[in-house]
This record gives sequence, C-alpha cells and structure tokens, in this order.
Amino acid sequence: MCVISAEKFSLWKKKQISKGGDNNSLDLLIDSLAGLSNKELNLLKIKSEKNLNLKLNLDLLELFWDKHLNTSIPIQYLSGISFWRNLKLEVSNRVLIPRPETELIIEIIAGIFKNKEEKITFVDLGTGSGAISIALALANPNWNGIATDIDKNAIDIASRNFANNSNQSNLKFYNGNWWDPLATYKGEIDLAVANPPYIPQDTYEVLPIEVKNFEPKNALLGGEEGLDHIHEIIQHAPIYLKQKGWLLIENHFDQGDRVKQLFLENRFTSVKVLKDFSGIGRFTIGRYK
Ligand code: GLN
Repeated sequence: MCVISAEKFSLWKKKQISKGGDNNSLDLLIDSLAGLSNKELNLLKIKSEKNLNLKLNLDLLELFWDKHLNTSIPIQYLSGISFWRNLKLEVSNRVLIPRPETELIIEIIAGIFKNKEEKITFVDLGTGSGAISIALALANPNWNGIATDIDKNAIDIASRNFANNSNQSNLKFYNGNWWDPLATYKGEIDLAVANPPYIPQDTYEVLPIEVKNFEPKNALLGGEEGLDHIHEIIQHAPIYLKQKGWLLIENHFDQGDRVKQLFLENRFTSVKVLKDFSGIGRFTIGRYK
C-alpha cells in the first residue's frame, strides 16, 4: 500500500504517457495493479487536493509500464486480470484475453431464451478464461452449464474465475477437445456456444505483435482458411444437441456466409448471421432441425 497526493500522481501519469503507449492501457494498468478505477481517476480531475491509496508503489507500477512499452505484452497478461462485462477474470498467456465484441453473445442468448423460468442445459466449447460460460451461469441461476477446454490450464483458470465471481454451483468444467468430454450428454444440450480459433493462416502470420507474440496460438489459429474448428464443432453438434437445440458460433469478420453454409449442410434450420457492434457479421446461429 502507498499513499500519494493526487498532484504527484498526475505528474507521474504524464511522465509515463510521454514515454509512449496510450491512455487506456495506462488506466487499465493502474486499475488492475494499483486498484484505482477509471471512475476514481476521473474524479481526481475535480478533486486534485485528494490523497490516493495505491496497492502498488509508483516505481513498481512504472516497471510494469516499461515492460509493456518495451515488449508490447498486453496489460492483461502483466496484471493477470481482464475486465469483461461485469466480471473480473484471472487470465494468463494460456487463455485468450476475452474481447469486447464477444460480450454481445450474452445479449443474443438472452433474446433467444426469453422465458426466465425455462431450465436449460448449455455448453460453452473452448471456454478459455471461462468468460462466456460464467456470464451465462450467473445471469441464469436455474440453467445448468458445462464448459470444456482442451487445455487443462485453461480449465483451472476458468474454474477459479467461476468460484471467485459467484457462489453458485450451476457450471461444471471438463478438460477435453470441443464436444469430447460430453459423452454422457448426447441429445441433451439445449444451447451450445463457442468462440473457437478462427483466424486464417495468412492473417495469423501478420497479426499485431501484442496478439501474435503473447496470446495462445491454439486459441486463435483456425487452419488454412480459419474454418477447421468451426467445421468440426458444427459437424458434431447434431450428436449432442436436442431436437431444436441452438448452436451459436463466433466467427471472423468475413466468414459469416461460409459458416452459414456449413450450418445448412449439417441440417440446421433458422440459420442467421448476426452483427456485432461494428456492424460485422460476427455470430452465426441456428437450430438443429
Ligand atoms: N477476435 C479475436 C482476434 O481478433 C480472435 C478470437 C478467435 O480466434 N476466436 O484476435
């Protein structure tokens, strides 16, 4: 813990920004590591005489900032924390940093299952940090959730994230590839959701270094055209989904039409490509027959 005047802190911030980087990243670092939220930072502009309590002293904070500037490591991996929707999630370089566009999945699903009394079984395939599955389980305490991931490290992180964000027990975690751990749930799933690796090979090669050098390749790369995992998930979905069960998949900005085609080839109905906040056809949904 360290106490410092708001004035000194503002000078320190100016010095950090003069070295490079952007304000949002610096604010995120301060929030995650020093425990000072954006709201509190904004308040300082009005109450500049205030004293601040920081969880980390400024020299240490500066070391983290310099590391970010020198290596391009994302702030979330430096702090081990990612904010997503109203969740504070532990992350490491074994899981993708959950993206803002993915947040919309929770609203799309709320729009499909409007009857709050309905009890459903859902699965999040390739859960990573657990973001999607945890948000769904928290928003719907009477739903029964399952989250899978091929990486045992991701499953450990996701389970801790669920425990730290709730006192519910309606979400189970299984280590395994896509549907593989769900042998006892054949024909029982009402809703399956996935944000699988979908970046095409040539795009992967030229990703920004903060992504390519730090985020897990197996959570990003989807093969030559980016569709390998999406295809595999759709192909096996009919074994696990109930009649009329829903599948929702996040895809790359230009894959909507091809993913829709894959849904149709596998006998899905009501197939639609839905847009994200930027107007990109980011999510493909459909029902199994
Ligand atoms: N949307 C992520 C990105 O652009 C990719 C996530 C994924 O492959 N599922 O970095």
